[in-house]
Amino acid sequence: MKKVFMAFAMTVGMVFCVSCGKTETASLPVSTPEEVKTVLIAGNEEYVANSSNKGDISKERREDTATNGQFPYATIITCSDSRVPAEHIFNAGIGDLFVIRTAGNVIGDYELGSVEYGAEHLNTKLVVVMGHTGCGAVQATLEGGGHGNVQAITDEIASCLTPDCSATEAEILNVKNSIDKINSSEAIQELTEEGLVEVVGAIYDISTGTVTFLD
Ligand SMILES: [Zn+2]
Repeated sequence: MKKVFMAFAMTVGMVFCVSCGKTETASLPVSTPEEVKTVLIAGNEEYVANSSNKGDISKERREDTATNGQFPYATIITCSDSRVPAEHIFNAGIGDLFVIRTAGNVIGDYELGSVEYGAEHLNTKLVVVMGHTGCGAVQATLEGGGHGNVQAITDEIASCLTPDCSATEAEILNVKNSIDKINSSEAIQELTEEGLVEVVGAIYDISTGTVTFLD
């Protein structure tokens, strides 16, 4: 029932705030995963063209989301790399994106739980696993792996690589591995089967600023 209501609500750009009991205007009137993808692509084009972020980080926006709650339209899983600033890349502001970051954008239980929370409770329509060019975690894996707790990350990346693959191929395989992890979630499977959520992959170019979505 809740899912049905939210699907309807988002089509008219309105959402019901459970904590405050009011109906509020959503940050963006998006109702489908495809529409969210279009918003992200447009935001990235704006970022690349102007090297700026016009997302709303105003005092008013901050106070509005603090009072009325968050209604992010996408979940972004990306690398902790300091050259991959998720909100800027998509021209997004406060309350727009639910962002999960780990070195190498790998998915473990905590990250998968975060994805499920974003989709089930915040109603994010699109889940984007976004790797990037020049990823140090992927490079470390190709060079034999890390040590200490870093090894857990490089072992995870190594598990999906093919023999003698290039860095570019490895970055894409690593994204696809994280997508497989997310798609193994029963909660995500249910939402995707209902057409309420879509999980996609992308690669961010740290030099040009361009996000390329994978087929
Ligand atoms: Zn990285």
